[in-house]
Amino acid sequence: MTDRHVHIVGAGLAGLSAALQLSLSGEKVIVYEAAPFAGGRCRSFLDRELGCRIDNGNHLVLSGNVAVRDYLYLTNATETMAGPGSPVFPFYDITDGAQWIIRMNRGSFPWWIFDKKRRIPGTTLAQYLSVLRILLARRNDTTKGLASNKNILYSRFWEPLIIGALNTEPDIASAKLLRNVLSQSFGAGGNACVPLIPKLGLSETFVAPCLNVLRQNGVEMKYYHRLRSMLWEGDCVRELAFNNGKVELNPNDWVILALPAWFMRELLPEVPAPTDFRSILNTHFRLDEMPVSNGFTGIVSGYSEWLFVRDNIASVTISCAERFKKIPSRDMAAFVWAEIATVLDLDPKKIPPHRIFLEKYATLAATPQQDAQRSSAYTGWKNISLAGEWTATGLPSTIEGALRSGVKAAQVALRWK
Ligand SMILES: Cc1cc2nc3c(=O)[nH]c(=O)nc-3n(C[C@H](O)[C@H](O)[C@H](O)COP(=O)(O)OP(=O)(O)OC[C@H]3O[C@@H](n4cnc5c(N)ncnc54)[C@H](O)[C@@H]3O)c2cc1C
Repeated sequence: MTDRHVHIVGAGLAGLSAALQLSLSGEKVIVYEAAPFAGGRCRSFLDRELGCRIDNGNHLVLSGNVAVRDYLYLTNATETMAGPGSPVFPFYDITDGAQWIIRMNRGSFPWWIFDKKRRIPGTTLAQYLSVLRILLARRNDTTKGLASNKNILYSRFWEPLIIGALNTEPDIASAKLLRNVLSQSFGAGGNACVPLIPKLGLSETFVAPCLNVLRQNGVEMKYYHRLRSMLWEGDCVRELAFNNGKVELNPNDWVILALPAWFMRELLPEVPAPTDFRSILNTHFRLDEMPVSNGFTGIVSGYSEWLFVRDNIASVTISCAERFKKIPSRDMAAFVWAEIATVLDLDPKKIPPHRIFLEKYATLAATPQQDAQRSSAYTGWKNISLAGEWTATGLPSTIEGALRSGVKAAQVALRWK
């Protein structure tokens, strides 16, 4: 019998995570990627207009993201992350200039909620009982119940959390997915909620270190390889047809499809996959003057949601950006700048050079209906497993979900050796 090869299609974080696990287990791995680079929806690039490297969009992970921690450890990239070092989340309310910092206690019981000084300004202890709506949520429940009670806890906590974590309108977002996020973050206590942000860029943390390890482990990376179709023999894939040629598989070879959901629908229509997606808009401003410090701030009651500052780049995230599709980009940049200039104490009328970047299919729409359309890693076919943030990870589209899905697809491949 010839040596087995595992062919991984898609070099986003899900594909890289699968390649990492398999290569560490001694498998011979080939990764095919349509783009000339790896990283997919989580990458950095040189922006010629701004004359510097930027990320496709701000990404935040938490210390409780176990798959992220493992991946960073295995790729020697733990030190490439920075953050405040404790579970703190600064916020700014655009309507009245109120500022506050959520300072969680480290342990799992949320003592901070009982301390008036640590609670979100204007909220009462009783309002926090609304978390029960989420904890008791059933599979088809949405977060609409929270949204219908528009008190200050909603506008200053639930709304930014739901839109930020699920990238979906609170009227239709899945309460179950929110519960899963909460139980692995806030519910696990402050130790699981220390924010982590790449020091230099997404690629420098999540892509380049992994590619180094893959290279050391003999993994072949084939860029400019766009999968078009697959040839089947019964329950087995026998050939992968790319834009630039065919790859014939040996009888014991394995395939991991780590492709986005929208392409999976075209490639294998019989595989259940989400059909509804949400965009994320990021506006990156190149500042003349260096702000006081790097970090992030949650912004409420404006267009801007999260402001990330890294050296002289201030980047603003707007999730679920289809809500604002009627606003021309130039106006949006001006609105956003006016908001964050106030936060950064800069001139709101003097818009610095900026770049707007829209990721149209940033995440799946995290609704109960879309969540029900996610596939598991194991397909029932003899030599394929699936990865991707859209698979049934139990989480919304996140780095943690993408990495876990890669590990799962690799485990299936190893089990069927
Ligand atoms: C703007 C933005 C902000 C985000 N913020 C956060 C955040 O703060 N925290 C967080 O945890 N997550 C965040 N996410 C989500 C996170 O980035 C994604 O969940 C994750 O990167 C998805 O990885 P993936 O490998 O599943 O998919 P992808 O990254 O889409 O990877 C799929 C790969 O397949 C390739 N491909 C596609 N078609 C073909 C083909 N036919 N043949 C070969 N290759 C193909 C693509 O080029 C791509 O490289 C954000 C996403 C975006 C876009």
